[in-house]
Amino acid sequence: MKKTRHVLGISGGKDSAALAIYMKTKYPSIDLEFYSCDTGKELDETYQLIKNLEVYLGIKINLLLATRETSEADPFDHFLTLHGGYLPSATARWCTKTLKLDPFEKYVGNDPVVSYVGIRGDEEREGYISTKKNIQSIFPFRKNIWSEDVIAKVLSNQNLDKVMPMFSNVYWGRNKEKFEALISKKIDTSFTLKHKLNAILDTDIKGFNHLVFQFLKTTEYPLAMENDFALLDNEDILIKSDIFKILEESGVGVPEYYKKIKFEVNGKMGEYARSRSGCYFCFYQQKIEWVWLYEQHPDLFNKALEYEKTGYSWSEEALGDLIKPERIQQIKEDYIKKTEKNAQKKSSLLIDILEDDDAGCASCFI
Ligand code: SF4
Repeated sequence: MKKTRHVLGISGGKDSAALAIYMKTKYPSIDLEFYSCDTGKELDETYQLIKNLEVYLGIKINLLLATRETSEADPFDHFLTLHGGYLPSATARWCTKTLKLDPFEKYVGNDPVVSYVGIRGDEEREGYISTKKNIQSIFPFRKNIWSEDVIAKVLSNQNLDKVMPMFSNVYWGRNKEKFEALISKKIDTSFTLKHKLNAILDTDIKGFNHLVFQFLKTTEYPLAMENDFALLDNEDILIKSDIFKILEESGVGVPEYYKKIKFEVNGKMGEYARSRSGCYFCFYQQKIEWVWLYEQHPDLFNKALEYEKTGYSWSEEALGDLIKPERIQQIKEDYIKKTEKNAQKKSSLLIDILEDDDAGCASCFI
């Protein structure tokens, strides 16, 4: 029988970097493999972050390329040619699948794999992750470490007969009766799967994790082959500020592009930065981030502009129009207004004001 592999993908973003540090220091007994899917179009800061992590953690991060290493073109350019110059977009996102998911799935092959994903406890999303049966995703930063599919099975009305007898194998302490009542309560329109899950997690995270692990033993999920799983007793919930703390305190550092830079427009001061990792031309960028790229990395902006010569553009507004002086001024003014509005509600961290990682996918930006 094949041994279960434990893998952690580094996207170049803050969350996956912090997850690597967290897992390696808190769970050194897990034999983790690290990888990063290289599109060839990342910012230099991303490659620097990978080097910093390798040095700090004493690990090797496998760089996965969607093309052969001997190929002359970067992976992105290679596949762009195959797509007839058709630039990817949020609705035709061939890049994530081709450059991130496919190399990852090739790397793990048919081996049973537990894949650790850095979605935080303050995020409401599952991310764009592999759906291959031999790959099981785990989310260590969240209250619920399990993936949607596992939760749907464990808590389904149909599986109640299977799950209830597993109670005797789990230590419940004083929460047993409350927990048993919750687990045995059937899901319906007034008590949804989400309600049930939240109520259970509010009652006993550890107990629930142990119950899920018992359930997995009756399935073909990769964790079914493990005798134990170190994260079953984990009750940590990590949010954005924890991520910055981990990166700063470890000495690995926060990638430079997250650091805010001041600008002035019509006598008003503002601050901008990039909110995510990924390709420098990523179409998920907000307009203010394109302006940041134009002003802070003009060489990269010009390269992004070059791609639009194919007749396609990265967003609904062509880059050539976006950098007209009056348009830049407008974008900055709008951004300052948005910032001021948000600042009343939120903390002063720029990363809170930019939309952060809400759009996009777990493969590219975590
Ligand atoms: S970062 Fe953006 S452009 Fe690059 S692969 Fe991911 S979605 Fe595509």
